Amino acid sequence: MSTSTDDCIFCRIARGEIPARKLYEDDEIVAFHDIAPKAPVHFLIVPKQHVVNLYEVDESHERVLGRMLGMAGGLARGEGAGNGFRVVVNNGRLGGQEVYHLHIHVLGGNAPLGSGMPR
Ligand code: 5GP
Ligand code: ZN
Repeated sequence: MSTSTDDCIFCRIARGEIPARKLYEDDEIVAFHDIAPKAPVHFLIVPKQHVVNLYEVDESHERVLGRMLGMAGGLARGEGAGNGFRVVVNNGRLGGQEVYHLHIHVLGGNAPLGSGMPR
């Protein structure tokens, strides 16, 4: 899997080369609204470092992954999803991954999301 970041859309958003509706940013993480929301609240939490997906992570990524998950609830609440939300991480072709830069989807809104489990 390529680790080039030149043409990676989320690296480019992290570098500020492509606009995004950001709701959080620090030196290692950026969160921004999904361009094609699948729920009333739908944003992405992304490490600025290019990591392809959860197949590619090792111990060096544990801290940032923990921070990403740890901020999901507060950001969801801040976006108006205070009564429930879901986190999704798609990995690889059969996991439905379209952008090959690791990201956590945060989905919420005003209706129950259901179990979300494949049937
Ligand atoms: P995946 O299928 O890889 O888990 O999800 C990729 C997500 O990124 C999709 O929900 C898609 O709508 C979103 N996305 C793709 N390109 C852009 C973009 O340029 N800007 C933003 N904000 N979201 C994007
Ligand atoms: Zn990237």
